[in-house]
Amino acid sequence: MVGTLIERSRGIRGITDKQKSRIHPNRRDEGPSPTARSGQGRLRLGLLSLLAILFFLSGCKPRTGNAPSTGNEELHITPLAALEARTLAPGQRLHVVATTSIVGDVVGQVGGEAIDLHVLMPLGVDPHTYEPAPRDIQAIAEANVVFLSGLGLEEALLPRLVNAGGEASLVSLSEGIAPLGLSEAGGPESGQAANGRELKSVDPHVWQDPTNVIRWTENAAEALSRLDPAGADDFQQTADAYREELFRLDAEIQSMVASVPAGERKLVTDHDDLAYFAARYGFEIVGAVIPAYSTSAEPSAQEISQLEVAVKQLGVIAVFVGVEANPALSRRVAEDAGVRLVPIYADSLSDVNGPAPNYIQLMQYNVKAIVDALR
Ligand SMILES: [Zn+2]
Repeated sequence: MVGTLIERSRGIRGITDKQKSRIHPNRRDEGPSPTARSGQGRLRLGLLSLLAILFFLSGCKPRTGNAPSTGNEELHITPLAALEARTLAPGQRLHVVATTSIVGDVVGQVGGEAIDLHVLMPLGVDPHTYEPAPRDIQAIAEANVVFLSGLGLEEALLPRLVNAGGEASLVSLSEGIAPLGLSEAGGPESGQAANGRELKSVDPHVWQDPTNVIRWTENAAEALSRLDPAGADDFQQTADAYREELFRLDAEIQSMVASVPAGERKLVTDHDDLAYFAARYGFEIVGAVIPAYSTSAEPSAQEISQLEVAVKQLGVIAVFVGVEANPALSRRVAEDAGVRLVPIYADSLSDVNGPAPNYIQLMQYNVKAIVDALR
C-alpha cells in the first residue's frame, strides 16, 4: 500500500552527518563589521541574555503574541504585528540576518540597498542540520532582525538563535501560511513538548510553491516597514515589483508542467521536500527515501525496500535529490529500482555561476529538470 510509504516518520533515530560536502561562502556583507558596542550596550546584552535564560528556566514563552502554535520554534518568534521601529542614526541601515540562501534572496529583493544583509548558511548546506559558526553568533547578536524560513526548517539553528543575545527579533517569513502536515501532527497541541520532535511534524518547504513566496515577500515588506518606517514606501515598491515576477514564475511553471502527462506526474525525493510543489501543480508524491520533512531522520531498511517496490510497481521514472542532501541512499534506491537520479536545488541556491543563483532561477531549473525527466 503506497499510503504507508508517504506516512511521515515520527521517530528521530539520531542525527546523521550528511552535510556540507559543497560549502561555498555566501556572505553579502563583506564590508567592515559594525563598530564595537558601548559599555551600556554590553550591559543591556548581558541583561537580555539573563532574561532569556530566566525565560528558559521558568518555562515562560517569550514574545508569543498571536503566533500560530505549529511547533516549538513559534514560541520564540515575534509576530509581524508586534515588531517595533528601531532607532537608526541618519544613514544607518537595518542590520538584517537571513538564515537560508533562499530566505536571503527574497529578503534582499525587498530590502535592496536599504538593508545591511547577512546570510547565515553557506550555499549548498543542509538547513535542517546547520549549526551556526562563531561568526554567525556575532552577526545575530548585532542584528536588528533575523528572518527565518520557519515552520521548523532551522531546527538545529533555532536554539542558538534564541540564546545568541542582542536585540534581534526572530521573524518567520512563513507567518500566515497554512502548513502541510498539520493535521497529521495532531493539531495545535503539537507545539507543547520541548524535545524538538514536533518540529518535524509540519512541512517547512513552503517555497516550493511560488504563491507562498509571494506571501514571504509581503511578510518581508511588512516586517522591514515596521522596523524602519522611513523606508516603508521603498520596501512596498520593491516588494510589489518582485511579486509581479513571482506571479509570472507561477504562470511559467503551469505551462512547463502542462507537457507532462497526468499519469507520469509521480515524484520520489530524497526527503519530503516537494509536497507544496506537488499540491500546486498536480503531482503525486510516491514517497521519499527519508520519509520525513527533515533530513535528520533516518529511514529503516523496511521503509527503503517498501519504497523500492513502489518505485518499480508505479512506473516511477526518477528520484529527485537535493544537491544539499547526501545522495548515497537515494543513489542506492535509484540503482536498485533501475531509475534515474536527478539532482535539483531543493533547500539551497547555487553559487552565482551555477544554475540556481536566485529563487526564481532555482524554480525554473528544478521544474525543467523534473519536466525533462518525466515526459
Ligand atoms: Zn528539506
